[in-house]
Amino acid sequence: MPRFDDIYARDFKEAPYWWEAAEPETNLDPLPERADVVVIGSGYAGLNAATHLARAGRSVVVVDGDRIGEGGSTRSGGMVSSGQKLVVGGAIKGIDPQLFSRLIGESNESFDYLKMLVRTENLDAGLALTGRFFGAHAAGDFDTLKRHGALLAEKTGVNVHFFDRAGQREVIGSDYYRGGMVIDEYGGLHPGKYHKALRDRARAAGVMLRSHARAGIVQDGVNGEKIVPTARGKIRAAHVVAATNGYTAADATPGLASRVVPVKSYQIATEPLPADLLAELIPQARMVSDTRRDLIYARPSPDGSRLLFGSRPGVFDMPDKLAAKRLYARMITIWPQLAGVKITHAWSGRVAMTVDKIAHMGERDGTDFAVGCNGNGVALMTYLGYQTARKILGEQNMPSAFDRERFAAVPFYSGKPWFLPFFTTWYRLRDFIDRPGR
Ligand SMILES: Cc1cc2nc3c(=O)[nH]c(=O)nc-3n(C[C@H](O)[C@H](O)[C@H](O)COP(=O)(O)OP(=O)(O)OC[C@H]3O[C@@H](n4cnc5c(N)ncnc54)[C@H](O)[C@@H]3O)c2cc1C
Repeated sequence: MPRFDDIYARDFKEAPYWWEAAEPETNLDPLPERADVVVIGSGYAGLNAATHLARAGRSVVVVDGDRIGEGGSTRSGGMVSSGQKLVVGGAIKGIDPQLFSRLIGESNESFDYLKMLVRTENLDAGLALTGRFFGAHAAGDFDTLKRHGALLAEKTGVNVHFFDRAGQREVIGSDYYRGGMVIDEYGGLHPGKYHKALRDRARAAGVMLRSHARAGIVQDGVNGEKIVPTARGKIRAAHVVAATNGYTAADATPGLASRVVPVKSYQIATEPLPADLLAELIPQARMVSDTRRDLIYARPSPDGSRLLFGSRPGVFDMPDKLAAKRLYARMITIWPQLAGVKITHAWSGRVAMTVDKIAHMGERDGTDFAVGCNGNGVALMTYLGYQTARKILGEQNMPSAFDRERFAAVPFYSGKPWFLPFFTTWYRLRDFIDRPGR
């Protein structure tokens, strides 16, 4: 493999591109002694749960162990969709059909919820529904995409178009894929701006946001109250919500940490590209992902100036700057036109995988939770935050389909994913067998 030592722009940063527009924030104001609800985790799920609770008159504090918004929410690809992950991501396999119907119905609802939120609350989130291309990595994947596309059209009402290898240049400036499908209704937003809009909205609703207050294991207090120990002092609360997703750890929520496996995903941003080059690579500014088990995802930045590209660079985690070289190699395999282009940003963040590949909300050890995005949480985790708040407020007519009794623990696992290299190797091997040489 070429060494790619010369790919870094002079202003290269190991930080999310999104933070140029909206960085996570520090708030070291004192913690309250008591709140009706303490929310642990300041991503989309935590902020949206908190806002809904505060608007219903509850006193709410959101604590984060790091800065407000330091987690996955400001590091993502920002792609938004309805139930595609359940289908394309493979959660559908072996699932009870009735449960699948409810899950896909609510995934669709989560997408509608996000669009409604951005529109009715006038959030500056850079949401643009430009469509999404799914590339078939191996020849056999094109038929799988056709099946998945038909199911998504039937269950979620989206418009799906298929392009064989000869015709795919219409929708992607690459000959890499063995055909693909486009779904018109999907798109993307600016994860950093969306997070800033949600935290401004939370503050306006009266939510207290407190950074650098890592929570420990929640204890029972008197009169049914909970005590949340944090790095900056204790808070008494009637309810506690854990919205920690890929940053869930055994020092705070051991019951969740054995059910959620944090996996790092990495991204790079190119330097600004000529507009006609970007339009050639990804016509109509669509989102792009593929059918690999070790998948890639790519998109133009919301201002249409550069390409953002994401993937897992290898079997083991590595520094973001080193990962950038591996991602670069993958990127120019798909778009050779980008050879020689410089990289301005490289970063990573943690997604949360679960045994059944489905997100979960519920209650464990006296703490409500919403976790397990499986890499698809911009719309879904926002929505599950809302559903968690509704549950606490007694507003739900029926439990969410994501609120299921069974939330399987990962065997022989308590928070340190020793098995990840084996799985990654297996995934890569299967991808290689499907398409040798890549
Ligand atoms: C690189 C990457 C790319 C992605 N791409 C996409 C995409 O294109 N589309 C999509 O839909 N989804 C994507 N996702 C997933 C999506 O970003 C997440 O599902 C979503 O942002 C999760 O939001 P959250 O609020 O649940 O958690 P997060 O935003 O991860 O927030 C969790 C917070 O909890 C805090 N925390 C953890 N433990 C404690 C503790 N004990 N005390 C205090 N605070 C604590 C952490 O510091 C963190 O800030 C991507 C994720 C990553 C990392």
